[in-house]
Amino acid sequence: MAVRIIETSDPAETESLGAELAAGLTGGDVVLVRGELGSGKTTLVRGAARALGVTDPVTSPSFSIGHRYRADDVTVSHLDLYRLAGLQHEDPALLSDYLGPDRIAFVEWPQDGEDQLESARLQVSLAHRGEDRRRIEVVDR
Ligand code: ADP
Ligand code: MG
Repeated sequence: MAVRIIETSDPAETESLGAELAAGLTGGDVVLVRGELGSGKTTLVRGAARALGVTDPVTSPSFSIGHRYRADDVTVSHLDLYRLAGLQHEDPALLSDYLGPDRIAFVEWPQDGEDQLESARLQVSLAHRGEDRRRIEVVDR
């Protein structure tokens, strides 16, 4: 397990970090993205998705738990589980639609104890550090 701490000073730097992380990902990988509202989770995912070849605008899922984007060789899934209290009472297929060997999935607000997310490849945590600065911790397993 490797832990990296990075500080960014604007959204572009956070996008670049996302792109850098994306370079190490492959189909089947799951990335958990944690941090308060506005800390830059979606910004980081946007940078990663772009780097993977997504050309559609990457926006926060709001009417569903996630979006799927066609990329170069994979499908990029972007989930936001903020409004789910827990997945225990949900249909297991809810997540399955977004995960799989030909998909790279980024999950904002992952729920604890969710088996399908347990084996995540990367865990990213963002925190506000005043104005446009963010502290970003990346745990690679
Ligand atoms: P989240 O998904 O965590 O709620 P978003 O990525 O949607 O956060 O929003 C982050 C907001 O903070 C955006 O408006 C972005 O422009 C701004 N911002 C300012 N500085 C940074 C930074 N260093 N990294 C990421 N976002 C930043
Ligand atoms: Mg978000």
